[in-house]
Amino acid sequence: MCIFCKIANGEIPSNKVYETDKVLAFYDLEPQAPSHILIIPKQHIACAADIDRSNSAVMADIFEAASEIAKKLSIDSFRLVNNCGEKAGQSVMHLHFHMLSGRDFAWPPG
Ligand code: 5GP
Ligand code: ZN
Repeated sequence: MCIFCKIANGEIPSNKVYETDKVLAFYDLEPQAPSHILIIPKQHIACAADIDRSNSAVMADIFEAASEIAKKLSIDSFRLVNNCGEKAGQSVMHLHFHMLSGRDFAWPPG
């Protein structure tokens, strides 16, 4: 079982921000911004390239989570990042979105 599946089932503790039966959001261990939250589906999906008709509904839950978290934590600007594949910087092969806020972000991202 992968590390985020273990976080999703409580085997590995995390600092939770938001949870439904479908998604979990928790603070990143190595924050890249003053607020760095990870939003994951509880179901194991390796990366965004594995989203298809059978599992795409969870994407709505993930974006709803981001919106709810922004309201709950009074975050008015945030960057939502998904790294898909090793060359894009994905190190944990369980779909996740980085929700970053609390500082300015460069664009283009580099
Ligand atoms: P990626 O590089 O795959 O896009 O992002 C993986 C993220 O997961 C990294 O930002 C890393 O700090 C975070 N991470 C890895 N292991 C753990 C963990 O056990 N707990 C938490 N909270 N974050 C983790
Ligand atoms: Zn997993």
